[in-house]
Amino acid sequence: MRVKAAVLVASGVERPYADSRPLQVTELELEPPGRGEILVRIGAAGLCHSDLSVINGSRPRPLPMVLGHEAAGEVVEVGPTDDIDGAEFAVGDHVVLAFVPACGSCRMCLAGRPALCEPGAVANRAGTLLSGERRWRGGEHHHLGVSAFAEYAVVSSRSAVRVDPELPLELAALFGCAVLTGAGAAFHSAEVKPGETVAVFGLGGVGMAALLAARAAGAAKIVAVDIVQAKRDLAARLGANHVVGGGPDAVTEVRDLTDGGADKVIDTTGSEHVLAQAYHATRIGGTTVTVGLPHPDRQLVLPALSLVAEERTLRGSYLGSSVPRRDIPRFVQLYQAGLLPVHELVSGRLRLDQVNEGFDQLASGEAVRQVIVQ
Ligand SMILES: [Zn+2]
Ligand SMILES: [Zn+2]
Repeated sequence: MRVKAAVLVASGVERPYADSRPLQVTELELEPPGRGEILVRIGAAGLCHSDLSVINGSRPRPLPMVLGHEAAGEVVEVGPTDDIDGAEFAVGDHVVLAFVPACGSCRMCLAGRPALCEPGAVANRAGTLLSGERRWRGGEHHHLGVSAFAEYAVVSSRSAVRVDPELPLELAALFGCAVLTGAGAAFHSAEVKPGETVAVFGLGGVGMAALLAARAAGAAKIVAVDIVQAKRDLAARLGANHVVGGGPDAVTEVRDLTDGGADKVIDTTGSEHVLAQAYHATRIGGTTVTVGLPHPDRQLVLPALSLVAEERTLRGSYLGSSVPRRDIPRFVQLYQAGLLPVHELVSGRLRLDQVNEGFDQLASGEAVRQVIVQ
């Protein structure tokens, strides 16, 4: 079928992207879903910093690639199945797409850690679906098994999670990356407990979701840190008790506000310098969690002794260390109960052909979560 899609044709080009147009919106030929795959009409797709990292070259991926990895949509066709119970999905199901497919049988999947699925990582690096195939007939690559900046996408059923059809797709999309990563970081990785102090460095969609989850978990005091005033204002509205501008003074300010350092500090920035600040803003005995993705060449420098002498924990968190099939429906229920107001994260709505302008907005630091709605 013919499908309109945004294809990344070159990475590392000059901004503004509105002029250089690294993403070309064009018609592509999409093959039907293969075994274990589904065809999804994309209803909404979020613009995430991980897309921007591919565009600006700090996360190299094979090109050309149909970008976009945070999305929700409706199943319109189910590929052949050899499961005796029949297909897992039916036409009309609403699904959130997770950006790591989980094979279900590798060591990491069996350990309950599908974010680290080994065949999933191989497929994502190669720009294929979990099957190893590409369904864009022109040879374009899939982005993290999703490729959501398109009218339709073929995905592995292992990349999809069925959700309540009452949930608007525009909000459902956020659960695939921002909410899964941010809320997962607070709930699973930082394990925020009632009464604890929490600091969040970086207030994009992921950071805001972490803030909301920390509040839902009963944090007594939340300090939100970002260089952008508008994001600090939103964080204050969403329940941050204190807001702090970024930069070298942030560590001292967080420590002063939390009586020597926060129990749990979550870094979402993707900067090794800010990660070091987050570590130093953590209380002795506390836990620093990072979900950021710095350039692979970057090194983190920390006082090695402090890990032992101060019993610190530094913890990486991919996909919020979540189990998408367990946690996306749980987080949706928290939203529906009013405990995780993720609708507050939507800062703009775009058409597919405005995708380059959207990434200029994101790169400027002004946008929290822009969503392409179709
Ligand atoms: Zn993302
Ligand atoms: Zn696996």
